[in-house]
Amino acid sequence: MSVNTMPKNSVSTPNFTGKRPPQVAVEAFPICPACGRPEQQDTTRLRIDSARGKSSWAKCNSCRAYYLTGEYDTAAEACHTVDMPWGQMQAGVRLNDFKKRMYDAALAGIKKHAPDAKKILDVGCSFGGFLMEARNQGYDGSGVDIVPEAVDYVQQQGFAAEKCGSLEHCQLFSDKNPVDVLAVLDAHIYWPNQPAELSAAWRLIKPGGLLVMRVITKSHFVSIGRVIKPIAPNFSNQLIRRSIGDHRFCMPLKTLLQTIEFSGFRIEDVVPRDARHSDDSSIAVRALFKIGDLSWKMLRCHLAPGAMIYARKPNA
Ligand SMILES: [Zn+2]
Repeated sequence: MSVNTMPKNSVSTPNFTGKRPPQVAVEAFPICPACGRPEQQDTTRLRIDSARGKSSWAKCNSCRAYYLTGEYDTAAEACHTVDMPWGQMQAGVRLNDFKKRMYDAALAGIKKHAPDAKKILDVGCSFGGFLMEARNQGYDGSGVDIVPEAVDYVQQQGFAAEKCGSLEHCQLFSDKNPVDVLAVLDAHIYWPNQPAELSAAWRLIKPGGLLVMRVITKSHFVSIGRVIKPIAPNFSNQLIRRSIGDHRFCMPLKTLLQTIEFSGFRIEDVVPRDARHSDDSSIAVRALFKIGDLSWKMLRCHLAPGAMIYARKPNA
């Protein structure tokens, strides 16, 4: 069954009480993989030229998220990732240095929201940059990634790690052996399905434990690009291509927060400035995060290209 389907006899928005995750599909009809609602007949279809080439996308008119359509193939996704810098050892290790500011911000957030936490699972751990920073600060880290070479590298650094295309297949932790903190830093945009992966994350986290996500939220740039296309087609194409990169999702922050809450988590904090990768980020990126941080704090209006989300699995 496709990952973008759900049972015909299930409710459109599952009963997210914080006590159990959404149920598994039985008989399928198409759903939006960003919010989990049934796909509407008026779903907007688009052709987008992204880092994956010309590809078919849809925009959900319920949650306003853009997403890549078609079946999710784990092997093809792993092959694609190996072609990206974070799928290759030298470039991946360089990226670890570049992202240190963001890793430190996430760890400071973890200290604040889960002061007793010891075990962290890094989802999409790549070549272990966050795990090494976490270890330097006294955490017991482990990771999952879709790229075998990244998993081998992380294991060689002494971490428990597992090749895993979906959290549903993760063996490192379980509901019987849950983790204190599950971190998803720049990885949710490659998930096959947001509600399904969040449900799997929910099962792996201990009651009272923390979900930390560095999310990429550039759908407003794609929408601007579509509006200006008739008057500035080249700039429009560049803006859309740059916003999407090689991602499978391009979601508004508020949609993502709703999906996280629907999956049983309680949002503790949303901090756009924690999502800035580096002090060496371009002036434009630094300005966007600065403006975005202020607009979020003062108006709950999200303008930044990303944010750090701290969410808690409630105690049973
Ligand atoms: Zn949707």
